[in-house]
Amino acid sequence: MSNSRAARLRRLVSSLRFRISAAFAALLTAALIIINYYPVQLMRRQVISSKETEMTAAAMTLAAALESFSELSSENVYDAVQLLEVMRERRVLVTDNGGMVIYDSSKTSDVVGRLAVFPEIIGALSGKDIFRCRYSEVAFESCAAAPVVHSGKTAGAVYFYDYDTEQAALLRQTRTDLLQLSAGLSGVCLFGIAAFMFSFSRRLGLLLRGVKRVGQGEYSYKISMQGEDELSAIGDEFNALTEQIQKNEEMRRQFVSDASHELKTPLASIHLLSDSILQTPNMRREDVREFLTGINEEIERLTRISESLLNLTRLDAQPSARPVPCDVGAVVRRCAELLGGSAAKYGVAIEVHSSGQHLILADPDGLYQVVFNLMENAVKYNRPQGRVEVEVLDDEAVTVLRVRDTGIGIPQGQLPHIFGRFYRVDKTRSRATGGTGLGLSIVAEWVKSLGGRIDVRSEYGKGTEFSVRFVTYRKGGAAQ
Ligand code: ADP
Repeated sequence: MSNSRAARLRRLVSSLRFRISAAFAALLTAALIIINYYPVQLMRRQVISSKETEMTAAAMTLAAALESFSELSSENVYDAVQLLEVMRERRVLVTDNGGMVIYDSSKTSDVVGRLAVFPEIIGALSGKDIFRCRYSEVAFESCAAAPVVHSGKTAGAVYFYDYDTEQAALLRQTRTDLLQLSAGLSGVCLFGIAAFMFSFSRRLGLLLRGVKRVGQGEYSYKISMQGEDELSAIGDEFNALTEQIQKNEEMRRQFVSDASHELKTPLASIHLLSDSILQTPNMRREDVREFLTGINEEIERLTRISESLLNLTRLDAQPSARPVPCDVGAVVRRCAELLGGSAAKYGVAIEVHSSGQHLILADPDGLYQVVFNLMENAVKYNRPQGRVEVEVLDDEAVTVLRVRDTGIGIPQGQLPHIFGRFYRVDKTRSRATGGTGLGLSIVAEWVKSLGGRIDVRSEYGKGTEFSVRFVTYRKGGAAQ
């Protein structure tokens, strides 16, 4: 991994760390504001609202009691106040309709006989019920006023005044308690965030190191990430990915080494044969011809190997061209014709059982390779006077191609390997018949890319049967 990429990843991680911390800090601040602000606000509103209910009710009750008097005097007001028990801790003033104080419950400052020009009293004298409350850090200061109406006219006003330090002290205490609680909570949260960030950074660092090491080609590097969360799931995925890369890399290496080995053998033969011609002075014409025929055969083999390799590479890179409807029976008949010569040479008879059309959606080249390679093997690995039977049939929505031979067969233990690249059961026979060990792997790749399935059954010494199943193509619709 280049330094700039590593630096970019490091920057990404630290920006992620910053964003997570910022999000935590924002959340914590929001939580602190909510904890400190809302309960205090709520409590304050509740105190004010209960004061309003109580004081307005008291003012209106006293005003209603005073309505029966034709004239207000300090005595009848005193009696009413005592009777109704509305005073409690509050100061009560009663004025006549001109705002002159008739009654004052205060023992310390008596304003009787003076004009009371409080806005609440003026409001009450104009016929309204008034309530006001002000909260300072020290007390709730509230007042309520109500008009006294007699025979439809305002005869005076009732004024209640309350200075409550107790509720204010309670509110202050609650605020202090909440602040202390917030401080404790913040401490715990900050500790939690720090611990989380520490473990998060450490685990991200592990991932980062892994990505870097694998980027440098160390595919066996594994991350050991503890826990059951998303990061450990990423760690597991990362390990599975590197395992797959490692396997692919081994397969690639094996393939390159097998391919070089396969190419080396014909090249060595060509070298040997040409060297013999060069080293032997006055070699007989027939011998030269024989050696050159040998060279020619090796060149043909090299060509076959490189064609097969190209075929596989193309298949790996670009699985399938645009499929078209192809008749499997027609392809089988064409291959039987092409293989007629070599079958006759081995003394093998090819029988084709196929009637009508058997259409499948396929790449024509791919289908040809599948049929040809299977039929060619059935001829090559047969015995003299042997038989090759090729059958194509429709089995519901599936088209089945069966290639059966009466040849040498494949031992059971080898069956799982025959589709591997460069795998040969009988090496000498394969080479003698010009085999490359790539035919069946090309078949398997094509069958896979055509969406089919291949199976093999074999009895060693008796014969082999390959069956390939394709999805049948129905005219006028997609593949079934
Ligand atoms: P090759 O080019 O060697 O034929 P293939 O990939 O086509 O390579 O086949 C792999 C091996 O499987 C062959 O070398 C051969 O030993 C065995 N094999 C394939 N087809 C048959 C068959 N019909 N009968 C017996 N052995 C077979």
